[in-house]
Amino acid sequence: MPIKGSPNRQECRELLDLIAKKAVDRSGCSEYMYVLNYSRYVDDLISRYPDCRTILEEAVENGDYATAEDLERMREEQIEDGLCCHGLPPECCPLGCGDL
Ligand SMILES: [Zn+2]
Repeated sequence: MPIKGSPNRQECRELLDLIAKKAVDRSGCSEYMYVLNYSRYVDDLISRYPDCRTILEEAVENGDYATAEDLERMREEQIEDGLCCHGLPPECCPLGCGDL
């Protein structure tokens, strides 16, 4: 979706909807992977429109955006809980973490 200048609020919401769908498709049903992917896509989007504050506002309001610090804390909790790097019990990870 080509946008000239900074996207307006409606365009930001549409862009965030698109990246949320992409993040779901690539999450492997792991909530952690979804939040990780979604947050990375949001950061990419912000870097494409550095003057636009609406993207971050909308992403934070949406509730699925995590900062690098949030992600690090989530990962530390998962390590404590014995989860694999995809946020799943290793024996249930579709990427075979339990087989390694
Ligand atoms: Zn895994």
